[in-house]
Amino acid sequence: MKTAALIVAGGRGSRFGGDLPKQYADLCGIPVIRHTIEVFLRHPAVDDILVVIHPDDLELYRSAVAGLDLRPPVLGGAERQDSVRNGLEALVEVAPEAVLIHDAARPAVAPATIDGVLAALADAAGVIPVLPIVDTLKQRADGDQLGGTVDRNSLVRAQTPQGFRFGDVLAAHQASAGKTLTDDAAVMEAAGHVIVGVPGTEQNVKITTNDDLARMAQQLDGQTEMQWEYRTGNGYDVHRFEAGSEVTICGIVIPHSAGLAGHSDADVGLHALTDALLGAIAEGDIGDHFPPSDNQWRGAPSDLFLKHAHSLLLERGGVIANLDVTLICEAPKIGPHRQTMRARIGDILGLDIGRISVKATTTERLGFTGRSEGIAAVATVSVRLPAEFR
Ligand code: MG
Repeated sequence: MKTAALIVAGGRGSRFGGDLPKQYADLCGIPVIRHTIEVFLRHPAVDDILVVIHPDDLELYRSAVAGLDLRPPVLGGAERQDSVRNGLEALVEVAPEAVLIHDAARPAVAPATIDGVLAALADAAGVIPVLPIVDTLKQRADGDQLGGTVDRNSLVRAQTPQGFRFGDVLAAHQASAGKTLTDDAAVMEAAGHVIVGVPGTEQNVKITTNDDLARMAQQLDGQTEMQWEYRTGNGYDVHRFEAGSEVTICGIVIPHSAGLAGHSDADVGLHALTDALLGAIAEGDIGDHFPPSDNQWRGAPSDLFLKHAHSLLLERGGVIANLDVTLICEAPKIGPHRQTMRARIGDILGLDIGRISVKATTTERLGFTGRSEGIAAVATVSVRLPAEFR
């Protein structure tokens, strides 16, 4: 059965707190949504993956999935249902027989759950993973007062992925446009289909609060503790001053009484950082990947170089543990720009700012940096790689 996974990441996560939608939060060094997508990418029964995102999250999404081979994302609508419908309509050209609709904020879905949903879908129009309710359920009456006890045996908790025949669920979603239904199974029920439950798992939590995120991190750490190795790389770069009115350092343009000479944008900070990252995975240096003799890199923004080095790390299943850049110059003053530089590097790498250090020093007016002939930068990067990586 040709199967597509539709991963829904259009939510704003207003219950989560903080600025970052929960599906992009850092979970053991990787955004939540990347964990989720990777489960489906690795599953042999899933032929195609489409992700629906919020229109404001394009940049977040790009860095979260950097290096993964995915279709371009589809933009979501005002409500979850609109987002799912947009995604289903975009899947028409893929023409799957079955579709698995999954919350991006459920990164710990077990491959066996996907198997179970697909197996039951052979004889059903819709299948969802469900869990029993162990707590006794009470009705709320007035204030703190409770009403009667609800029979929990007649109730289950619904999870995702929810599996459907593609044609049925597309038609059901189109027919229910404008109505508010809580999940895709409810949309199918409204269209008269019978939904079947298969066993879910307690681990397949939808991350809604910071506590959920912390518990999930513990859960994943427990599973993966012995499977990582750490590597470190260093980088060093120098660019000389020339006539000009601004310099680009760590992706930030700073007005200055001189410019920096170089083939690209001469971003000494990002060059040192790129070399450190390449060093950590023994992939040569920036000149090997972007030869100065190649005219296409003339004036190039250096975030391209850093993103390329990062994609080589991601291809190996690696993540950056932390990075540290030191800029060496008398002027311009780096201090006022440090936080912006950290944030910019975080954007380029999809990395939490707490893993990014930018600092600066002078050389007490000694040497070429002391004479303000140029700027030097050194960088160190630590990466975490799957232990089987060679
Ligand atoms: Mg350079």
